[in-house]
Amino acid sequence: MRPYRMQTLAMTLDEKVRRTLVDLDVTDAAGVEALFTEVRAAMERERSALVASAAASQADREKLCKALRDRWLARKHGLLSSIDEQWLKVASKELKPAVGRHFNELRKASSCMEVSELAKEVRVADDSARPKAAASPAALAEDSWQNPVRPAAPSFYQPQPNTLGWGQDDIVGAAQASDLTLPGNRRPQGSLHPVTQMQREIEEIFLNLGFRIESGPEIESVYYNFDALNIPESHPSRDDWDTIYINSQTVLRTHTSPVQIRAMEKYGAPLYIIIPGKCYRHDNPDASHSPMFHQIEGLAIASDITFADLKGTLDFFARKLFGKKVRTRFQPSFFPFTEPSGEVAISCIFCGGEGCRVCKESGWIEVMGCGMVHPQVLRNGGIDPEKYSGWAFGLGVDRFAMMKYDINDIQLLFQSDVRFLQQF
Ligand SMILES: [Zn+2]
Repeated sequence: MRPYRMQTLAMTLDEKVRRTLVDLDVTDAAGVEALFTEVRAAMERERSALVASAAASQADREKLCKALRDRWLARKHGLLSSIDEQWLKVASKELKPAVGRHFNELRKASSCMEVSELAKEVRVADDSARPKAAASPAALAEDSWQNPVRPAAPSFYQPQPNTLGWGQDDIVGAAQASDLTLPGNRRPQGSLHPVTQMQREIEEIFLNLGFRIESGPEIESVYYNFDALNIPESHPSRDDWDTIYINSQTVLRTHTSPVQIRAMEKYGAPLYIIIPGKCYRHDNPDASHSPMFHQIEGLAIASDITFADLKGTLDFFARKLFGKKVRTRFQPSFFPFTEPSGEVAISCIFCGGEGCRVCKESGWIEVMGCGMVHPQVLRNGGIDPEKYSGWAFGLGVDRFAMMKYDINDIQLLFQSDVRFLQQF
């Protein structure tokens, strides 16, 4: 699991060279290449900017060239020596060859930044004809950092004294010239949200077992959300402290279970479905609660379905998802829509069942509720409980994703923060 890191996009090159690759979140060869491409482009940009300007005198030219040379090549605090210290010397074993190669190329290319080389190309303006001094390299560099796409500072587009017989077009042309052989900017590619990835992984397992995916409305009637599921009028979950009501007969569904009834009515028995979807409860957002969350529910109905089928299926599922060594434990519980009901725990995937902080030293983590479908619920769905039986389970997809990716705050999943999401 990679830790949560600050974005590096907004940093200037000067800030980047003071940080290590780890701090910059550069973890592969492509990232190294992009970084060095940026450095090469900046070097070329600053050199072109200086070349396109004019020095007021020989001494001024010497001074401008030396300032830019020192900025890049000074033994102490020059950009190249910072890159050597921060990127190359402390690079990981995997990245070092790539960083070394790029750094060597950069060092070769940087010979054009020596004072003698720069001075060849910077012209000296006639003192008498020159009203103002050229901008210093530091100021030029500063300005070009603001927008890496812009080739040079705006001052170059202003009329310059014409001492060498150059036309205005030549000067502007030199400032705008760009090297077409440089690689383009990389566009970041998106990826599936961790909750979507988890959901698809779970779906895949049940699809392979012959289940199909079923969905239903998120705005649901009180009948489907509560009554048909055998949840009595007096049940505390119906309280509007727990349930978000649209009006007295309509709610934002509190679980995916209403789709069980809808599917029974639509298809009858036998029935093998899983139901992924969003659910809503009157919860204040904190590290483990969100008013909107994701569930996956499973339902199997056929003749002669027993609790053994339920145990076998969920045991298989847990091993498939968390690995062959994982064991499952069933404990009695209560839900109005199943009888008997159970809580399923898996042996802790972090300590292997020996006891750790995550499993609170118990060696087990509770992951879902399950049970045999209550006969009244089958009846409500139009299925004869004398002929058919079934089981159901329900789990929280967000919790599974948090477990798998070691995320300790559910809010991170729903804040759409690119810095978090781009880790998946
Ligand atoms: Zn543990």
